[in-house]
Amino acid sequence: MTRSITLLGATGSIGASTLDLIRHNRSDWQVEALTANCSAKELAVLAREFGAKIAVVGDETCLAELRDALEGSGVEAAGGARALCEAAARPVDMTVAAIVGCAGLAPIMAAVANGNTIALANKEALVSAGDILKHAVEEAGANLLPTDSEHNAIFQCLAGNEVKEVRRIILTASGGPFRTLSAEQLQSVTREQALKHPNWEMGAKITIDSATMMNKGLEFIEAHHLFPVGLDNIEILVHPQSIVHSMVEYRDRSVLAQLGPSDMRVPIASCLAYPERMETPLAPLDLAAIGTLTFEKPNEELFPATRIAREAIQAGGAAPATLNAANEIAVEAFLAGQIAFTRITAVAETVLAGYSAPAPGTLEDVLAIDAEARKRAREAVETCALV
Ligand code: NDP
Repeated sequence: MTRSITLLGATGSIGASTLDLIRHNRSDWQVEALTANCSAKELAVLAREFGAKIAVVGDETCLAELRDALEGSGVEAAGGARALCEAAARPVDMTVAAIVGCAGLAPIMAAVANGNTIALANKEALVSAGDILKHAVEEAGANLLPTDSEHNAIFQCLAGNEVKEVRRIILTASGGPFRTLSAEQLQSVTREQALKHPNWEMGAKITIDSATMMNKGLEFIEAHHLFPVGLDNIEILVHPQSIVHSMVEYRDRSVLAQLGPSDMRVPIASCLAYPERMETPLAPLDLAAIGTLTFEKPNEELFPATRIAREAIQAGGAAPATLNAANEIAVEAFLAGQIAFTRITAVAETVLAGYSAPAPGTLEDVLAIDAEARKRAREAVETCALV
């Protein structure tokens, strides 16, 4: 039976992996909407290939280019923040949420309000608006399928079990490209080095987050929202090979792990086919060739991001949304050559230390906190007055 799908963030890394799976199972899917921010030409090529009904650019100034690129294709073109939400709100069997950053939150909320099933890759939305998003999901009878590889692993390890039986969630982390460096060496790492993840091919923002370990900090908050086992029962474990994608320990000390290649097509396929399974074009996992799987404790002295994230979710209120926004600005600043690598987490910590606000109750509250934290983070980057 053909199922309909909307892909938010079609021109990104998760977008490409998702479309590759659809390409291999073409007759199973009818593509409703594909979106991007401003990669109009790339989006048009995809919309033509997959026969999308509508293609949307979030940045309205890129709409003319999209219209030109789609001429004669029969694909509707739209642009702007409202168009993005309207496209996300179209009823479909599956929405893949793969916009990067808090920019993905409003479209996700629109898809949720419509009761859609959402494969959620966009962790920043859950970090910034966890309680609001979960409440909206419940109200609308929507369904969130964790797509981040670690959370998808936990979701699979939990299948058939109740959260109350869980003693501990063990979130694995590759440790990033700088795991073995000294504090001194870390001071001078370059943008190019930080953009080379040892195991995963991903978009620029999450690759930098992986290098600072902020990705794991954000995932810690994400896990807390998706699997309510209590903050004290979520642990981070460095596993440089990225083969065990996470683990769940039960009351009886039985530990279940999910293993697989470091390829996002595996967790995405698990969401697309849920509760069934689908074929993927991947080679089988060859554990004999890999040989050794190792595990070590995270080094929070050198990589303070996981501590900062833990403190932010413990503090509650506006702190998680503030952390996320400040980190987004700091990563942008690092990629633009404005700050050193080690200053990324310093920006986040500085903004968190200087700003507090009540817990957001609505999407608008989250967006206001996000805007304020971005402003403060830009100031921190410019003045370099960091903790
Ligand atoms: P990419 O940077 O590769 O792609 C981001 C996508 O979002 C692009 O389609 C981009 O469009 C679009 N986009 C960016 N900014 C906006 C905006 N302001 N409004 C609308 N659309 C926008 O990111 P990834 O695919 O790597 O990551 C996407 C999400 O998935 C992130 O939240 C990430 O943390 C999460 N994730 C990613 C993994 C991975 O392996 N890549 C693994 C686990 C989670 P354009 O091309 O026009 O800029």
